[in-house]
Amino acid sequence: MAYDVMIIGAGPVGSYLATLLARDFNVLVVEQKSSFGEKACTGIIGAESYEKLGLPKKAVLNAFRGAKFYSKIQSFKIERKSPQAYMVDRRVLERELARKAILKGAEYSLSTKFLEFKNGRALLQKHSDVFEVEAKVYIGADGVHSRVAQAIGAKSKGEFLPGFEMEIIGNFDNPDFVEVWVDKELNEDFFFWVAPIDENLARVGTIGRLDSLYKFLKIRMLTDKSAIEFKAGSVGIGVRKPWVRRNVALVGDAALQLKPLTAGGIAYGMFCAHALAYALKEGDLKRYEKICSDIKREISFGLRARKLFKALNQEQMEKIFELLSTKEAREVIEQTADFDEHAKTIKALLKHPRLLAKALKITPMLIRYLL
Ligand SMILES: Cc1cc2nc3c(=O)[nH]c(=O)nc-3n(C[C@H](O)[C@H](O)[C@H](O)COP(=O)(O)OP(=O)(O)OC[C@H]3O[C@@H](n4cnc5c(N)ncnc54)[C@H](O)[C@@H]3O)c2cc1C
Repeated sequence: MAYDVMIIGAGPVGSYLATLLARDFNVLVVEQKSSFGEKACTGIIGAESYEKLGLPKKAVLNAFRGAKFYSKIQSFKIERKSPQAYMVDRRVLERELARKAILKGAEYSLSTKFLEFKNGRALLQKHSDVFEVEAKVYIGADGVHSRVAQAIGAKSKGEFLPGFEMEIIGNFDNPDFVEVWVDKELNEDFFFWVAPIDENLARVGTIGRLDSLYKFLKIRMLTDKSAIEFKAGSVGIGVRKPWVRRNVALVGDAALQLKPLTAGGIAYGMFCAHALAYALKEGDLKRYEKICSDIKREISFGLRARKLFKALNQEQMEKIFELLSTKEAREVIEQTADFDEHAKTIKALLKHPRLLAKALKITPMLIRYLL
């Protein structure tokens, strides 16, 4: 029997897609791991997206109502009264999504690795058994190093960087604020984050070099000797094309559907899963990319903003901090900040004539990248 849809990868995006499809299609999800979770991921998802996507409350570990931004020599705080983002337990999130998908009729096959396509079928391996399974449509939700993307000859252009994260015991006085630290002399590729779970435990991480994270821990007066978890992973920041080839589509990290400025991919992947489910239900897979055009635009703006971030040195960064901590800039940010739509806030700041004039003085590169 051929399945209607085979989803390769039971990460958050693959299982979320399974929940959207399982009532209407005969769905098989194959996952190479034997259990859920374990991936290096801080698990922060915008609160608005979380509600819109209908994700399980059970997975939420903490809620953030703002962020504190630190440079080498200054800091400022953006806050709101209500939660702006949630931090989730990835294992609980993935298990809950899989449970929901199974209850709706999806079948799961754990410890099952997709190897390649052979004569229109998927060649799978479970322990020492290698066998073929047929589906009408195949979805690669198999993460950044997607074998499905390779199998369909998708081309990638971008940066593939390692990411590291520790869960560390320490004192975190304001557990409803995420800390974002920018020190380009320590890490020119990315910022450092401190995301508290409660007053005594936080997820601390960065993208780029591991040695920079150790140096940051010292500055933040934390130590890896108090870490109760260490995880390493990778992110792909860029563009992978195409998302659809014949009866195969890519979604989530497999399609590099990730916010270039923060490397958060759960929400974008899930929004694209909605577009993919819609296209499948309409019987027109080609519409998928078109329905995702808003996210494509966000990613493309984010990639330009990231180029600017990378081009700035710490001295310019300090001046940007000075500008962003002014009352008028903070007001714009507080009014427009959206955890998952960075373009909205950046564009609102640039529309403000005085802020734009000051920003252009700091770096005329703004014109090249963002205007
Ligand atoms: C350090 C770090 C911190 C991060 N923090 C955040 C954050 O706070 N918020 C956020 O939104 N994002 C964050 N991300 C990014 C986030 O982890 C990804 O965007 C997200 O996991 C994408 O989900 P996915 O389901 O597309 O892919 P994945 O989570 O990678 O899932 C893919 C699944 O496919 C399976 N698989 C792979 N190959 C095969 C195969 N051949 N056969 C069968 N199964 C296969 C894998 O085992 C895995 O279960 C972070 C990333 C890193 C590295």
